[in-house]
Amino acid sequence: MTTDSEQHNGSNTEDGERNDVESAGMSLWTQLVEVGRRNNGPSLAPVVAASSTFALGSVEEGRRMAMSSRATSFYSRYGNPTVNDFEEAIAHLEGAESARAFGSGMGAVAAAVLGLCSTGDHIVAQHQLYAGTQMLLAAVCPRMGIDVTFVDGTDPAAWRDAVVPGRTTILLAETPANPRLDLVDLAELGAIKGPMKVVDSTFATPVAQRPLEFGCDLVIHSATKFIGGHNDVTLGVAAGAGDLIEWLWGFAVLQGAVASPHEAAAGIRGLRTLGVRLERQSRSAATLAEALEADPRVESVRYPGLASHPQNELASNQMDLMGGLVTFDVAGGIEAGSRFVESTRICRLATSLGGPETLVTHPASTTHVSLLPEELAASGIGPGTIRMSVGLEDPDDLLSDIDASLH
Ligand SMILES: *Cc1c(COP(=O)(O)O)cnc(C)c1O
Repeated sequence: MTTDSEQHNGSNTEDGERNDVESAGMSLWTQLVEVGRRNNGPSLAPVVAASSTFALGSVEEGRRMAMSSRATSFYSRYGNPTVNDFEEAIAHLEGAESARAFGSGMGAVAAAVLGLCSTGDHIVAQHQLYAGTQMLLAAVCPRMGIDVTFVDGTDPAAWRDAVVPGRTTILLAETPANPRLDLVDLAELGAIKGPMKVVDSTFATPVAQRPLEFGCDLVIHSATKFIGGHNDVTLGVAAGAGDLIEWLWGFAVLQGAVASPHEAAAGIRGLRTLGVRLERQSRSAATLAEALEADPRVESVRYPGLASHPQNELASNQMDLMGGLVTFDVAGGIEAGSRFVESTRICRLATSLGGPETLVTHPASTTHVSLLPEELAASGIGPGTIRMSVGLEDPDDLLSDIDASLH
């Protein structure tokens, strides 16, 4: 694959230079407003380049674009101006050289796993993972002859000890992890030599944590969640070093899990308000977590910002905000758990997270229903476990809703 750095960010570099952001020295809050405007012209809102293909000036130009990674005005499976703006925005916010957007978070996870690993390779991942990632590793990878070892992600030694020198290609971490909000120590993970360290940082977003700063190689987001922020996009992204993203791009063009320019525009719009949303969601989540912890009808509460979280200190070391998810166990097992999520009125029963509406799920009967009992236990899911994605409503109204449903 040849590259032409002139082509990396599209052809309209003169305007681009003006609209682009020098992130050095600028606060993250300002970056959220400034990023992702290269192909925007004077428009303040993201411009949707809703074209699957682009007119070429010459055969030579077409040849160059077909061979350069990230050509943004050639054919939209290769790249697209609006999608490129979203990719640049995420790269800036994560402190990465480059990023590639995907049609969903799983598109990004699958590209990282199947684009970086070959038959005979070995992956180390944690037990506690998003269910789709878990299924990809447990069901698809063995079929490809890729071995996976699952470890306790909270134990840095377990990651190190599972590495098979010369065979382990990637360490795949998720922090905070779905659904029990266990953390992976990013500095410990980043210090492991050899394999590529891939971190699914969906629950944190770049506002709360930036894994590349800790020596990790690739950060992945389901932008369907907090980044999109309004339950109206399905979008994923991976960010890292230029040559790594270039390699992933080569796979992604053939994988075809491309981001739509409409979704990318919604992703950019989501970034503008991500900071204020996540700050409020984190504050409300902390309020709810404290109230739930004091409630005798609740057996246990998990929130990284609670002093009772076993990794509370690690949370304050590697996270700037504690996030909008709270996980708790209601007394009464599977029946009480499903009755709770069916009786809330403001908190809606729905899969997903990170939007304006507070959502509740009962993993044992929904997202993780395909797991065996021992896999459920390893994932930290009990019969009464409830995952709550705290939205933008008044926390007092949410508390009344929770109180009535627990009753
Ligand atoms: C939702 C989610 C994914 C998958 O993202 P999609 O956009 O649904 O494909 C991956 N990882 C985590 C942590 C998620 O929450």
